[in-house]
Amino acid sequence: MKYTCWGAAKQVTGSMHLLKLENGYTILIDCGIDYEDKSNKEINSNFPFDPKTVNVLILTHAHIDHSGNIPNLVKQGFKGEIICTEPTAFLLEKLWADSVNIQNNATNRKKSVRLYGFHEVKKAVDQLLTIGYHKDFELSNGVSFSFYEAGHIIGAASVRLVIEENGKQKVIGFTGDIGNPGSKLIVDSKPMPGLHALITETTYGNRKHKETRSPEEVLIEQVTATCVKQDGRLIIPAFSVGRTQAVLFTLKKLFNEGKLPPIRVFADSPLALASSNIHNKFSHYLNDEAQLYKKEEGSLFDFKSLHIVEDKDDVEDMELYREACIIVSSAGMLEGGRIQQHIGDHVQNPMCSIMIAGFCSPGTLGAQLLEGKSIIRIKGHDKYVYAKIGQTDVFSAHPDIVGLTDYFVKSDNSELQKVFFVHGEEAAMYDLKETLDPEFQGKVIIPSRGEEWTL
Ligand SMILES: [Zn+2]
Repeated sequence: MKYTCWGAAKQVTGSMHLLKLENGYTILIDCGIDYEDKSNKEINSNFPFDPKTVNVLILTHAHIDHSGNIPNLVKQGFKGEIICTEPTAFLLEKLWADSVNIQNNATNRKKSVRLYGFHEVKKAVDQLLTIGYHKDFELSNGVSFSFYEAGHIIGAASVRLVIEENGKQKVIGFTGDIGNPGSKLIVDSKPMPGLHALITETTYGNRKHKETRSPEEVLIEQVTATCVKQDGRLIIPAFSVGRTQAVLFTLKKLFNEGKLPPIRVFADSPLALASSNIHNKFSHYLNDEAQLYKKEEGSLFDFKSLHIVEDKDDVEDMELYREACIIVSSAGMLEGGRIQQHIGDHVQNPMCSIMIAGFCSPGTLGAQLLEGKSIIRIKGHDKYVYAKIGQTDVFSAHPDIVGLTDYFVKSDNSELQKVFFVHGEEAAMYDLKETLDPEFQGKVIIPSRGEEWTL
């Protein structure tokens, strides 16, 4: 069989992996939006293969850089099943609809190409098929797979494929995005056994998480410094799915336990409510702490001072609110979404703190703030940066170099022949490779986009 990395090759976004068996059966793993390859404007519009020739799509998780181009694949003729876990399927409906709205807005401003509309989203939703973790699913004669907990966001899965070809059995594993062990709400990742080839993410391949404090300690410190002592506002950019819930869950616990005064919290993300409801609905997919809390409290995220911003009136209420507050708003890298308004309005306010809690790809607004730029351009205006810029990796949804190495060590590598590094910056991949033991290192391949490998 042949493996080709068609996305997230030597970069983080645009995950798309093609596996073509000798008998022609074709499996696509993930089909995400590429936010980085700006040299190729058509990269998301046109596929480098014929979508009609793909038999099945297996999706690791709902994040848009893994799932966001699926309705376009359907638009261009893909008719097979889209297989994912149940929480992923529920999240997809919301995320794809949101993606259409973003595309429509951007197209109106003539800033980008419209990839698909609500019609294609509906068709893609009709093609969804859900299965749970550790259930063997037969795709075709001699081809089966199962999902393993990836520990990244709710419902995220690694994919373990078992393929028989020419009388030989090969086991291929795709990690998808794996999580940071011990994350809020999310179960830890489980490595896949008996692999011959592993395709693994390497997002933080050359970084070590610096935060030694717990999420509770970080939020107490940030909220006290900004909201209690300065009467200012704390802005936390966060993706609607995952980090927003980790932050809200931690805040709820701190308020309930009386460790923070009941400061108003605005969750300003079009998907925050839907995504939080899906976490409550599928709380049995979450870790023990979350399941116990759900049992005792009935809900993981509701608290008295929480204001979910849903309509224009809510936005107005939030804008008129002058007291100390916390704003959790999407998106995480500060590229697009409602967070831009908050940054634009408050980056010149010295009483404001912006706490960046996740990975920011180079060139994004988040990365510019972290680099310490004194002037940023936002929504067509230059703004001085007077707000305090903070960073924490305590809510990180990816393992660092130690976590990744641990994942490899805990895996059963006795049959492993090839390890492909994807979903990371090239420098991070080489740094990670250097730290691995020589035997594992010898198996590592860093594929370029479109390179074909025999497995
Ligand atoms: Zn992800």
